[in-house]
Amino acid sequence: MGYRAGVDTARPSRPAAAFGPRRPAVDGWFTVDPPCLIGVRCPECGTCAFPPRPGPCPDPSCPGDELVPVELSDRGTVWSYTENHYAPPPPFPARDPFEPYAIAAVELAEEGIVVLGQVVTGVRAADLRVGLPMRLAVETLCTDEDGDRLVWAWAPDTTGAA
Ligand SMILES: [Zn+2]
Repeated sequence: MGYRAGVDTARPSRPAAAFGPRRPAVDGWFTVDPPCLIGVRCPECGTCAFPPRPGPCPDPSCPGDELVPVELSDRGTVWSYTENHYAPPPPFPARDPFEPYAIAAVELAEEGIVVLGQVVTGVRAADLRVGLPMRLAVETLCTDEDGDRLVWAWAPDTTGAA
């Protein structure tokens, strides 16, 4: 597949002053190095949820009233996907200039929950299909005066491809 070709060269060059600290656009939802989603898990029944939030357990039949942070698996398969052609309105940050991007709902391999996320730049909805293996990555969402703001993103997992 040729979706990686030209990814870097397609980026507009930025003035050196634009480079700064790389930080998550949302605090506490994921780590950057290595890319890892932070969810919560019910110690009573093992049910997981993302994004992280305070208890009680999302399973109404479970007595668990406290959720603990947990690192979620960084692999899964495409459960559903779409493509966004409209820049989000302020105050939500968007790439400038805006380019359409794919969004994938990925079912995590171990937890079985579905996590929505942007798909890495250069991979469009036409490149995806239900069941496609995906791995977690981190990508620059936008750059402001404080540096790069990062967001988790799904990338086709080619490491196990035949
Ligand atoms: Zn529970």
